[in-house]
Amino acid sequence: MSWEAVIGLEVHAHLSTATKIFCGCPTSFGAAPNTQVCPVCLGYPGALPVLNRRAVELAIRAAIATGCTVHERSIFARKNYFYPDLPKGYQISQFDRPLATGGGIGRVRILRIHMEEDAGKSIHRGDVSHVDLNRAGTPLVEIVSEPDIRSADEADAYLTRLRQVLMYTDVCDGNMEEGSLRCDANVSIRHPGDPLGTRTEVKNVNSFRYLRSAIDFEIARQTAILESGGVITQETRLYDPATGETRPMRSKEEAHDYRYFPDPDLPPLVVERAWIDEIARSIPELPHIRAERYARDFALSAVDAEALVTSRQLAEYFEAVAHASGNPRAAANWVRNELLRVLNEQKADIAASRVTPAMLGNLIRLIDTGAIGGKSAKAVFDEMAVSGDDPDAIVERQGLSQISDPEIIRDAARRVIERNAAQVEQYRAGKAQLFGFLVGQLMKETRGKANAGMANSILRELLGG
Ligand code: ADP
Ligand code: MG
Ligand code: ZN
Repeated sequence: MSWEAVIGLEVHAHLSTATKIFCGCPTSFGAAPNTQVCPVCLGYPGALPVLNRRAVELAIRAAIATGCTVHERSIFARKNYFYPDLPKGYQISQFDRPLATGGGIGRVRILRIHMEEDAGKSIHRGDVSHVDLNRAGTPLVEIVSEPDIRSADEADAYLTRLRQVLMYTDVCDGNMEEGSLRCDANVSIRHPGDPLGTRTEVKNVNSFRYLRSAIDFEIARQTAILESGGVITQETRLYDPATGETRPMRSKEEAHDYRYFPDPDLPPLVVERAWIDEIARSIPELPHIRAERYARDFALSAVDAEALVTSRQLAEYFEAVAHASGNPRAAANWVRNELLRVLNEQKADIAASRVTPAMLGNLIRLIDTGAIGGKSAKAVFDEMAVSGDDPDAIVERQGLSQISDPEIIRDAARRVIERNAAQVEQYRAGKAQLFGFLVGQLMKETRGKANAGMANSILRELLGG
């Protein structure tokens, strides 16, 4: 009988605040070790935490954008454990009274979203360990899913969409390399229809590739154990990117008893309904809604629409091109194919693109009005991407305008030949003076702008004489 994987993700997202959750230290990444610390985040005795209002606002944004119910009253608790990068000896986190519960992304339900502070970072070099406390006290939301995920693909899709939503709403910068977004993957297997199996939890996975690899490894490992008659130990495991394997970190027996209790230094977090409603009104259109709108209003394929909403910047760029060009489908193709290719080649961010939406819109208009041909347009685009010049200027400079673009003239000549079949037949039968008539038709077809010499030679070539 076949096995079914059951997966639940716990996603930790750094909130994009300028300062830490309980003190005024900066949260910026990459500063020299231990330069962004104070008595509060260093856990000095007697130092008192003061909750960062912006962190609460961002956590509420995350909750609303994932369809959760925000609770007007939640409690900060102390989660007690000893670790070198946790100077207070406890982490302030929400436990039995989280900020929000009961939302979802697609068909994956979200159990809860709670706020907490991040710990510092231990850095191991040879047989020496260092501690950097710059990260200690960085505000986080933990977003816990129900075990609704069934494969590495689904986990990837869920995390992709969740990351998009957090970035669209400016809750989190989504930077997995810098650790702004990381996740723990809980994995078990069972025969379909059976109760949940024993799970293992793979800690701190910080890339999509690692997530897929860690899940697939766990599924294979657990399958091999159960098929050979063994049992799964509930434990925390670590993923090793070098080997693609997971290995045990600590088992349930050695699991901590965190002795949670409400933090006596922090009053219950009370958020007024009016504030929650105000935040709800400021949430931008979310990616899946946007993708549906593009498919519906612009007649784009689901694949195109989805590709254009991967970031808010890209979606906004696309919409601006769609409007400037008046041709959303062409805008979608140009953005997806040419713009993304060039940005990728230039390793540039869309915000830094030399080609503005207005320029690309203008280029599409030049094509649609027949001013330049498709091949020339690609050349103009590449030139825009380098020089940042307007397409009109490039067309002019490179002589690609209507009069001298053989592509346009050839297309027009084909239309003239098609429309004047009788005259063409007579011309081919020997009535040479009809050539002048056909050239005249071609000039008319191009509104008199075709280069006469080219019109002549192209027409002669197509007429085969
Ligand atoms: P803990 O805090 O000990 O990690 P939680 O109850 O908060 O425990 O659950 C953590 C995650 O584990 C959730 O995302 C949940 O969906 C997932 N989970 C729970 N049971 C299973 C299971 N049997 N298999 C896979 N995932 C599970
Ligand atoms: Mg857990
Ligand atoms: Zn501080």
